[in-house]
Amino acid sequence: MVYADPMSATSTLIGPALPDYHTHSRLCHHAEGTLAEYRAVAARRGLPALAVTDHTPNPVGYDSENRMGLSDYPCYQEMLRQLQDGHAPEVLCGIEADYHEGCEAYLPAWLSQQPFDVVLGSVHHIHDWGFDNPERRGDWARVDVQVVWREYFALVTRMAATGWFNIVGHLDLPKKFGHRLRDDLLREIAAPALDAVARAGMAIEINTSGLRKPVAEMYPSPLLLGMAYERGIAISFGSDAHRPEDVGADFGKALALARAAGYAEHATYRARRCTRMPLPAAI
Ligand code: ZN
Ligand code: FE
Ligand code: FE
Repeated sequence: MVYADPMSATSTLIGPALPDYHTHSRLCHHAEGTLAEYRAVAARRGLPALAVTDHTPNPVGYDSENRMGLSDYPCYQEMLRQLQDGHAPEVLCGIEADYHEGCEAYLPAWLSQQPFDVVLGSVHHIHDWGFDNPERRGDWARVDVQVVWREYFALVTRMAATGWFNIVGHLDLPKKFGHRLRDDLLREIAAPALDAVARAGMAIEINTSGLRKPVAEMYPSPLLLGMAYERGIAISFGSDAHRPEDVGADFGKALALARAAGYAEHATYRARRCTRMPLPAAI
């Protein structure tokens, strides 16, 4: 694939490479490094683009310790604007929006007012339990794991039906600490959610951060990725980097996973419109 290189007079063959559509910033209070450092790693790894997708702010106090406040949002916009400087890799303006009980009161109106290139939709909470929060990990000992997965995918189904988002973040996040489901149960429980994702025209991401978590597996599992492929659901790639050195991490493994599931294309976004691009043969 040929990308224009603004640092030289001619086009440069970079890659093969994939854009990273899931990265964070220090504004969420649990990430480190500057966005310039994130982009420097993306450049070093030959990525054609980087979407910054920090956690959404909100006016209702939801999970406020893990995200920017509404008063920080102008700073986020300015940090992104400073990277719109014509240098490669291109930095896209995105957000990781939480779908949670009560978000209807503010999220659709707020999202529609923002100039995002791409919006990830993620479920991190069931009722008031941040089930993937390491500080709440102990709560897993007190729940029925199968019920948690059912509630989780019911929320993903509702999220997809809203039409507010482009890409489902980390589709099987409840496995983060190792709480897996049997394949037959997972297939049954996830099918309605994937049907809703397909109906909504949303993509899902291959998120490599699971490799850095106790489950030691990318999101989603090969089983779920195969179910997505059967439904014609597009894929993007994300590191979920919360520090510069994780940008583009393990994208070679992610590409191999996509190809093994049958995928030949990936989804790219600009101004929230999707364009499917051919996958590179290898990284
Ligand atoms: Zn985060
Ligand atoms: Fe997330
Ligand atoms: Fe994230």
